[in-house]
Amino acid sequence: MPADCLFCRIIAGEFGAEFVAENEHAVAFRDINPQAPVHLLVVPRQHVSALRDVGNLNDNELRGMLDLSVKAAHAEGIDRGGYRLVTNDGADAGQTVFHLHWHLLGGAKLKNGFA
Ligand code: AMP
Ligand code: ZN
Repeated sequence: MPADCLFCRIIAGEFGAEFVAENEHAVAFRDINPQAPVHLLVVPRQHVSALRDVGNLNDNELRGMLDLSVKAAHAEGIDRGGYRLVTNDGADAGQTVFHLHWHLLGGAKLKNGFA
């Protein structure tokens, strides 16, 4: 684990963050600056810097991230109305934390468009 990685430190429990959902391969916690009524971050326990390095996750870890996203959406009660799962890769997308994560957004009618 890179010592300076914020999400590795959160996963290690350094900041006492509450996990809304978790499994063997990933955790979900609330974004500190929510962009929707429900805004979770789904983060693999294994450090991977961004989607471009997803090859560094094995099939179980990647599946674990996706399974946890579905489980967290259900736990938050946003799966009936619908939700969005998005990742930012690199500077043009506005990535600020370089540990792979999906943003799980819902709880309201989301704006159309991605750019
Ligand atoms: P990105 O810009 O796609 O890399 O997303 C990083 C996200 O992490 C942003 O939405 C931030 O609001 C969020 N964030 C930064 N620090 C924390 C933290 N300590 N706890 C929870 N979310 C955080
Ligand atoms: Zn990390």
